[in-house]
Amino acid sequence: MGEAKRIVVVGSANMDVVLPVGRLPRAGETILGGDLALFPGGKGANQACAAGKLGGAVWLIAQVGRDAFGTALVSSLQQAGVETEHVGVSGRPTGCACIYVLPEGENSIVVSPGANATLDPESALSRLAAVKDAGFVLSQLETPLDTVEAVFTAARSRGATTILDPAPARELPQSLLRSADFLTPNQSEAATLLGNPSWVIRDFADAAEAASRLLALGPSAVVMKLGALGCLVCSHHGSERAEGFQVPAVDTTAAGDAFNGAFAVALAEGRSVAEAAAFANASAAISVTRPGAQASLARREEVVEFLRRAGA
Ligand code: ADP
Repeated sequence: MGEAKRIVVVGSANMDVVLPVGRLPRAGETILGGDLALFPGGKGANQACAAGKLGGAVWLIAQVGRDAFGTALVSSLQQAGVETEHVGVSGRPTGCACIYVLPEGENSIVVSPGANATLDPESALSRLAAVKDAGFVLSQLETPLDTVEAVFTAARSRGATTILDPAPARELPQSLLRSADFLTPNQSEAATLLGNPSWVIRDFADAAEAASRLLALGPSAVVMKLGALGCLVCSHHGSERAEGFQVPAVDTTAAGDAFNGAFAVALAEGRSVAEAAAFANASAAISVTRPGAQASLARREEVVEFLRRAGA
């Protein structure tokens, strides 16, 4: 195997601030909550960490604030082996998700994009150009869309492969969808992209129908993430299932990010799309057996051992 290609993630970095509460406070009311917990997150940073922990050569292009959360996020990325020279510092505070966790496990979340909103096309493009020979470029929808589109267009013109995770769910312009080599929605993101958010995609048959409609919107291939079922890879040559692995799931936070980071690492190593889908299913399956976002992401040795035991 030759040297693996370089991976660049362009996306968000957030601190998740989690607070258990008995109920939500009413306007003007003060209540007591449980102990606060901080978790490094943001889809861009999570995907970069997922790829870094699996041994990928990965750079993150992102913006944090000049504050303690920003410092903590950069340190978490570095621990995962991510190159952070292109994580810029903004005048706005680090992005943050304030998550109230209710007793039944339901969450109420307020996201403050903060510094993520300052990732503009010009600076992202100049940082992308500074990473020599980027082979794969990944993005999501937690940073400005014009930045994602500009970066994908530039990446493709230099021969790189683009992978778009259309999360959080929203409808997207065709120009952006056409700039993606791989579009990787989960079930609800696929339904939203197709303008039918109430459509419940239950099985591989539904997924095949949704994926073929998504292909018509412009991406070269669709990899639909299907939770415990695994994923479906669909291109103009046909569709192929990659079955999920049966594991005791405790927390599916960042499962999709684990999947995307791993998918990129496998492709960057020159593996086929089918092999990359299996590797991504395995990495994501491991992540759902553990709590947290970046802390739950699998290391390379764990995935290799997991696949060996599964006989895959
Ligand atoms: P998201 O996290 O974006 O909502 P999914 O729930 O589809 O996306 O999960 C992403 C991937 O994580 C799936 O394609 C699958 O590989 C893996 N996965 C998710 N949930 C489970 C589970 N319960 N058991 C095994 N693998 C899972």
